[in-house]
Amino acid sequence: MTTCREIMTTPVFRFAPSPNGELHLGHAYSALLNQELAHRMGGRVLLRIEDIDVTRTRETYVAQIFEDLDWIGFHYERPVRRQSAHMADYRLAADRLRDMGLLYPCFASRTGIAAAVVAKGADWPRDPDGQPHYPGLCRGMPETEVRRRRAAGEPIAWRIDMGAALARLGVTGRGDLTATCFDLDGGETRIAVDAALWGDAVIVRKETPTSYHLSVVVDDALQGVTHVVRGRDLEAATGLHRLLQALLGLPEPRYHHHRLLIVNGRKLAKSLSDESLRALRENGVSPADVQALIGPLG
Ligand code: GLU
Repeated sequence: MTTCREIMTTPVFRFAPSPNGELHLGHAYSALLNQELAHRMGGRVLLRIEDIDVTRTRETYVAQIFEDLDWIGFHYERPVRRQSAHMADYRLAADRLRDMGLLYPCFASRTGIAAAVVAKGADWPRDPDGQPHYPGLCRGMPETEVRRRRAAGEPIAWRIDMGAALARLGVTGRGDLTATCFDLDGGETRIAVDAALWGDAVIVRKETPTSYHLSVVVDDALQGVTHVVRGRDLEAATGLHRLLQALLGLPEPRYHHHRLLIVNGRKLAKSLSDESLRALRENGVSPADVQALIGPLG
């Protein structure tokens, strides 16, 4: 029988792909590294399907994730959490941030933002994804105008007021917001993280009642995830995630940001469409070949 103590001390890992493209070797590395670390630490392994993006999610990709992961020998607990089935959880979290006065409505279009950014000049800051910081077009919009535009059916996003959020937590300088990172030998370091790199990021998108950043922190907390192992391409996002966790009073997982695979001299980032696991499988590559291609775990 599993005791309460065991549940509380068992590490929980997760692999959380987005079904908006085919999985590639980089995903295989990430999934198998999670599994390997869970094995070393006597932990559990979860799979989460991050399908909040209604325009890019495809059911064929979801089905393919299950096939690919079975093929490479990644084993996970059931049931699998699909984010699209849990919008109410994200709505609740967004409501809490709104009640704290930390989210404001934004109607701005991409083109409107782009034009305002040009006017700001070449030094205007960009976020870690390369997008310009929000130039504040709708910040401080009078309530009457918000009501009028909502009533007219204009799509609305909700942005975090980064200055207010940092002030609420008393974050004034480097080192005030931190994350615990662990290395593969079990060593832990507390590092400074910087949520302000993201500016007034979108927390609730126009087309879906959440965003990657909000859903990921809500789910990691609801699923009791203790160890987040993901690629270095998401390292900067950890700053924003730590901020949201602190604001929402969520537990703090430990983080490990793993190397990105280099194939043919190119980094395999999650957003690039590289040779997929399906294509490898169909070309007669074996799971053992996949292991050899991704190299040692850790
Ligand atoms: N769903 C994200 C992706 O596929 C990963 C989220 C995470 O590991 O935090 O890039």
